[in-house]
Amino acid sequence: MDFNDLNSQYNRIQKNIDRSIAKVLEHGKYIMGPEVFKLEKNLENVTGVNHVISCANGTDALVLALMAIGVKKGDAVFCPTFTYFATAEAVAFLGATPVFIDSEQTGFNLCIADLESQITQTHREGVLIPKAIIAVDLFGLPVDYKKLTLIAKKHCLKIIEDGAQSFGGKIGDAIAPSFGDIATTSFFPSKPLGCYGDGGAVFTNNEEYASIIKSLRVHGKGKHKYDNVRIGMNSRLDTIQAAILIEKLKILQDEINERENISLYYNSIFGDRFEIPIIPEGLKSSWAQYTLLVDNRDEFRAQLANKGIPTAVYYEKCLHQQQAFLVTGQKLRKLERAELLAKTCVSLPMHVYQERIKFD
Ligand SMILES: *Cc1c(COP(=O)(O)O)cnc(C)c1O
Repeated sequence: MDFNDLNSQYNRIQKNIDRSIAKVLEHGKYIMGPEVFKLEKNLENVTGVNHVISCANGTDALVLALMAIGVKKGDAVFCPTFTYFATAEAVAFLGATPVFIDSEQTGFNLCIADLESQITQTHREGVLIPKAIIAVDLFGLPVDYKKLTLIAKKHCLKIIEDGAQSFGGKIGDAIAPSFGDIATTSFFPSKPLGCYGDGGAVFTNNEEYASIIKSLRVHGKGKHKYDNVRIGMNSRLDTIQAAILIEKLKILQDEINERENISLYYNSIFGDRFEIPIIPEGLKSSWAQYTLLVDNRDEFRAQLANKGIPTAVYYEKCLHQQQAFLVTGQKLRKLERAELLAKTCVSLPMHVYQERIKFD
């Protein structure tokens, strides 16, 4: 048994995927072909966001979003410390400084109280200019954007939703990623909506941001490809990947529903022994991961491995503990809840197309 099972999914939709890819090979428009624009339209329809701009991967999506709001050296961008490296890498890549925030007491997303205190402290120190918050919908559960927006407004900060793991998650009827000033996602194969390679997208209702991002993804183009008005990137989604995603988007909701069923099954088995994921009223996770907190993690993983059940650890190190960020002038402070998560988190397989795993 593998931790991820993308083969069974491919078997289910093989005919449609193969046909969709074959069409691209026939028309030969490998870069920015018609499927890219069709996918963007479909993503706009599903999320209700006015502008979806696809790009090469979820990390670039974050860089494009940060560039659109003008993040640069000397700016502070607040982000959770318990997340994938790319969240804060995008900030540091542009020369700005990530300011790391602890995790909430129950759950995996950023702690709003710690966020507020770090914003206040950064203002007080007067060295960095507070510019934006990157909120990560970790493991698929959207952040409380109502609360976050109040804080952002109060301190004149922009919000970027890192929805790399939350495509299809919901707050009420609103579908992620569609929150904040700009939202981003990743189409890395194992994400909720994955392609067969690298891919990503940016979502915004702001027309000005959308037009800047469209320019940035093609070398800062102006009127056309050979008219360059700003320094940009080469960050386009391949047409073949778009063709794959058009097919995968059709089955996404079924898969999320099934992962929710699996999460309930896991809750029933582990709920009285370990800390299980808590989904607040009115929210839906995309269930990118089902993650438990287990004190004797190594022992627990070894027991499951003996039964042939694979597990994974996302993430065993917080970002404030990563060597790469030591040089960005981080203040060393203890982020207790996040450090506990890093020591005790363990994720279980989410196999939509297989029978339920037996644990006894
Ligand atoms: C996967 C991921 C990214 C980066 O996406 P890539 O497509 O791999 O570049 C960024 N943020 C989070 C939270 C992720 O899980």
